[in-house]
Amino acid sequence: MTAPTAEQLDKLRALLDRLPVGPWHATDCEGRIEVWQESALTHITRDARGEIAGYSTPSAYLASQLLYERYVDTWDRGERDGEDDDLRRDIAELIAAARNMLPGLLAEIGRVRTLVRDLADPDECQYDHHGHCKAHGWTQTEPRCPHARARELLQGETT
Ligand SMILES: [Zn+2]
Repeated sequence: MTAPTAEQLDKLRALLDRLPVGPWHATDCEGRIEVWQESALTHITRDARGEIAGYSTPSAYLASQLLYERYVDTWDRGERDGEDDDLRRDIAELIAAARNMLPGLLAEIGRVRTLVRDLADPDECQYDHHGHCKAHGWTQTEPRCPHARARELLQGETT
């Protein structure tokens, strides 16, 4: 799996900016799988971890608040012959999870790259006959010197 390019990350940021603001919440009730903008739900109760434990769907809402809907034959995950329905449940959960987590992951990538850029020594590695880096005091060949890996990670970066 290759790392996303700066262009791909920019496209993803632009897509997230165009979408209704998160968090989103996937619901699964009596054969209706939906993804809602969380702020549209009413009577929300949460468990000790802050996860939504109960909710009501609104009787009136904007099209931009009900983001995905799919009717399925089974009412509960894992019901017999419900494999395709469970796939649709997973897709709805992925849609909500992606909307909720991608902004944080993008920010984390930015923070990690900034940190790597600041930590990485721009001076080239100097390997001895064992393949150890004398310049950075790295005495392994696998993984290679972290400064070499850091320079590779930052290569091609435009932001
Ligand atoms: Zn090195």
